[in-house]
Amino acid sequence: MAGFGDRSFGQREMHKAVCSECKKDCEVPFKPNKDKPVYCRDCYQKHKKF
Ligand SMILES: [Zn+2]
Repeated sequence: MAGFGDRSFGQREMHKAVCSECKKDCEVPFKPNKDKPVYCRDCYQKHKKF
C-alpha cells in the first residue's frame, strides 16, 4: 500500500520568487512576503555583509 509517506526527508518546501535586486527567478525556502524583499542566493550573500 503506497501512500504519500515519507515527506519528512529533510526537504524543505520551496517557493518560487523573484529576486528583488536582480529580478532573477529563484526559489526560497520560505513563503515570499510582499512586504519584504526576496533575494536570490547571490544577492542574499551581498546583503548579509555590508
Ligand atoms: Zn538576485
